[in-house]
Amino acid sequence: MKVAVIGAGLGGLAVAVRLARAGHSVDVYEANPYAGGKATVYEVGEFRFDAGPSLFTMPQYIEDLFTLCDKDIQEHFPYHKLNHICNYYFEDGTEIIAYANPNEFAAEIENKTTDKASGVLKFLQKSKKIYAVTKGLFLEKSLHKISTYFSKAAFKGYAHLHQIDALTTMGKVVDKYFKDSRTQRLFKRYATYNGSNPYQAPATLNIIPHLEYGIGAYFPKNGIHGITQALLYLCEKTGVKIHLNTKVERIVHKGGSIKAISLLPLAVGNEILKTGNLKQETDIVVSNCDVYFTYKHLLADVAFPAKVLNQPRSSSALIFYWGIDKQFPKLDLHNILFSEDYKKEFDYLFNEKSLYADSTVYINITSKYKPDDAPQGCENWFVMINAPHIEGQNWDELVATARLNIIDKINRVLKTDIEKYIVAEKTLDPRGIESVTQSYLGSLYGTSSNNRMAAFYRHPNFSKKIKGLYFVGGSVHPGGGIPLVLSSAKIVADMVGNAR
Ligand code: FAD
Repeated sequence: MKVAVIGAGLGGLAVAVRLARAGHSVDVYEANPYAGGKATVYEVGEFRFDAGPSLFTMPQYIEDLFTLCDKDIQEHFPYHKLNHICNYYFEDGTEIIAYANPNEFAAEIENKTTDKASGVLKFLQKSKKIYAVTKGLFLEKSLHKISTYFSKAAFKGYAHLHQIDALTTMGKVVDKYFKDSRTQRLFKRYATYNGSNPYQAPATLNIIPHLEYGIGAYFPKNGIHGITQALLYLCEKTGVKIHLNTKVERIVHKGGSIKAISLLPLAVGNEILKTGNLKQETDIVVSNCDVYFTYKHLLADVAFPAKVLNQPRSSSALIFYWGIDKQFPKLDLHNILFSEDYKKEFDYLFNEKSLYADSTVYINITSKYKPDDAPQGCENWFVMINAPHIEGQNWDELVATARLNIIDKINRVLKTDIEKYIVAEKTLDPRGIESVTQSYLGSLYGTSSNNRMAAFYRHPNFSKKIKGLYFVGGSVHPGGGIPLVLSSAKIVADMVGNAR
């Protein structure tokens, strides 16, 4: 069959590889002049930065693609497991190293806080259990196909459903296990991995620590952009054709079936460079664009599924890409400088829709493992705080104030004067995230998981109305983040296979 994939994000590229490998003729249409979507790269002065995602977990999804294509992953996508997952810093001077080894990590928590190592190990066991129950049921299958509920994995899972804590919040369960506010913050932070609020999200999200301490956190030798490069390599080897600078304007359907896509003419400014054949006939369309915009713009002639698409959005982010003319030996690849009042920070993000003055600051420094990302003696700092999605804020004002607050926080916690070392700078705020990756309201992960029905309200991976139309990527089931996006690609490829 002829397949058109709209968008060359990681989900779009992964599904293209899978469908090409299954024998289909696949074309990927990407509006930007580059592939990768959120997983692209920025050069700022002499510094290189991964633009969006920075934490790499569950490499098995990439391994799977290399195996499928009979290619050697080590040759084309080398990566290694991190021994230190993250360094956590608190205003009282506490520094906690999250060792990958659960026993070492638990001992570190016991040494640095008033919580016990045994509590950490018990909590990680709980996290592992949630993973075991949900993996076959929710994460790797469509929630919207009746067959999912009658599979062997489903029946195995039903007996343990009470153990996934869907009826209470993540924050409440964390507070039951831990009494020290530093440990509580450390584990509540995992809600932000899919843009949610730990004080509202179901405790099922306590699955996430297992991904780091059970399966591992990794660093791709070429940074996160290495994932994009690896998928492009597999696209090339499987015969996928990628059309950059090519924006899809409409999905054409008739009688309940896909017929074609129509493209906007390639233009730079007001100058139209190429018109070509703007209508491309196709049997299958897989949309990798944010599902909200897919309906709003590409399917304007189809009833808008408002209940699903108007669910609350996940958080966005404010990022400063700083070239730093100094090295900080005590910092690692992933570093967190925690807010003192975590509850208040989330109230600002999800209720006030604003930025809290003492926001938790994340600093990612890839030059720790990839020295050519910064000139000698320097470091590339990706400095990020969580931000609300777009809702009428005065972003210029918020960004200017946040920059000052972040600098103050870094100076206090790391005992430095960071501003004098900033030699290169670029800023990305929710407006930029929305316009560059076409993510509705600048949300990083589509809809949030802030209520227990959120998983069921995420848009399915297929259209119930139009045969041959599928959806892949962070705004649809099973959710945002690299592993889930790659999982959605597998779900879609399996569905197309079964539909033949
Ligand atoms: P996207 O990256 O959303 O790409 C969609 C593509 O579709 C874009 O290239 C867009 O241009 C294209 N497109 C849209 N409309 C059209 C059209 N009409 N025609 C043609 N093309 C179109 N995940 C993690 O796992 N770990 C992290 O640490 C992490 N941190 C993050 C930090 C930030 C700041 C951001 C932004 C994201 C982060 N994520 C993280 C999330 C992760 O990046 C995303 O979930 C994932 O990359 C999304 O992939 P996607 O397939 O949904 O496509």
